[in-house]
Amino acid sequence: MNDKQLTYQELINNGIKKLVIIITLSISALILIIVGVQQSLMTVHEAQGQMMSLNRANIDDIPSFIHWNNQNNRHSKQNTVIRVKTNKSSITATSGREGQVIMTSSASKKFIAQKKFSIFSKNVVYVNSFGFFLFFSQKDTNTIYQIWVSLNRLINSLILLIIIISIVVFITLGFGTWWAQQLAAKLSAPTIQLVNETRNTIKDSEVDQPTLKVPQSPREIHELGNAFNELLTAQNQRLQREKDFVSNASHELRTPIAAVRGNINLIKRHGDKHPEVIPESLDFIDEESLRMQNLIENLLHLSRADRAKVILQDENLSEITEQIGQHYEPSIPHKMILNIDSDLHILGNSDTLKQIIVALLDNANKYSEDNTPINLSLKNIDNKIELSVADLGLGIPDDQKKLIFQRFYRVDTSHSSEIKGSGLGLSIVAQLVKLNNGAIEVLNNQPRGSIFKITFDKI
Ligand code: ADP
Repeated sequence: MNDKQLTYQELINNGIKKLVIIITLSISALILIIVGVQQSLMTVHEAQGQMMSLNRANIDDIPSFIHWNNQNNRHSKQNTVIRVKTNKSSITATSGREGQVIMTSSASKKFIAQKKFSIFSKNVVYVNSFGFFLFFSQKDTNTIYQIWVSLNRLINSLILLIIIISIVVFITLGFGTWWAQQLAAKLSAPTIQLVNETRNTIKDSEVDQPTLKVPQSPREIHELGNAFNELLTAQNQRLQREKDFVSNASHELRTPIAAVRGNINLIKRHGDKHPEVIPESLDFIDEESLRMQNLIENLLHLSRADRAKVILQDENLSEITEQIGQHYEPSIPHKMILNIDSDLHILGNSDTLKQIIVALLDNANKYSEDNTPINLSLKNIDNKIELSVADLGLGIPDDQKKLIFQRFYRVDTSHSSEIKGSGLGLSIVAQLVKLNNGAIEVLNNQPRGSIFKITFDKI
């Protein structure tokens, strides 16, 4: 199988993975930024508050610092180190979880003694073995106030948040992949069913007219299956027509061949002793071979008309119809009534148009009694041109009006079965009418007989 052909499962999986990663990462980034910024601002605000308070208190010796420190409610959640440097002394305090002030504690001394590196700006510093701090410093005439607020708690919370978010991403991805598999399996099941059904039908050579069992849902697959079945039905019908055609053609050819061979045998066996049978048999052979020749010619016509693509050009149908009507009349025992409007033009092919008119006149002649008239007319009606051949003959029953255009179809009445024919004439006419972009229909004539009417577009 082609590597690039992805399955539903892979497609859905890829899509869901991307979606989950994008959504969770953007939400995480948003949470991190909001929490980070909010916490940082709070820390900065707190530190600046203390710095202002220190400044206002104007501390320049240890007692005033103790006083400030006692009064000042420094319940900061952040570990904070404060240093006040005066000309006289340096006082340091830390506050933190323990809450209370330890002046010049060993921890403070150690902290002050550590090396400090500024990061990004001078307000963020890294203090060896103590971590990250926010640093503010302010100078009075005699005093320097310095404050370090630990960022460790903030950083730890953010790291915890990142860990939680990562766990959530992994869980969501895992669940998403599982869900994608379930969804893909559900989605692809009807398609797979249709594919299997098609394969089984192909394998089953016994089935003559195969159609597929179509899944009811989803609608798309149902419609695909139905469309496929319509195609199959059309193909089946075509195949059936071809089969019928071959079997009808061979059947039609077998009859005259059998007659010819029978008469040849007759001549061979009895010709010597009874030479009087020879002329009669020869006549029979002549007639049957002529029938065969006609049949084969008709078959050839049909197969040509099936494939043919004629060149259509401006034809004066009035002239063509008039000409055929006049030439045809002397050769039949019918009176012909011509009713032809002059100068009617269509886009057509003159040879095939002549063939159509002759075939319809032949049938009118064959299927109506000798003394009845045949009407050949050409009219311009509602921007259409109507060519019709009407007779007062046998007529065609309504339920067979469509069937007579099928190959080898003959109306089964006692009269018409006496009249020789192959049932191919009208199917050739129908093909040729189609090639000339016309439409043919059969109507009942009054008081009896039929009208074959062909409609063309006028140009
Ligand atoms: P064929 O005439 O060789 O039998 P066609 O295809 O020309 O074959 O005609 C098919 C059938 O239609 C005929 O067998 C006949 O029963 C019927 N048919 C055709 N034309 C007419 C007509 N003008 N009047 C009555 N029946 C007709």
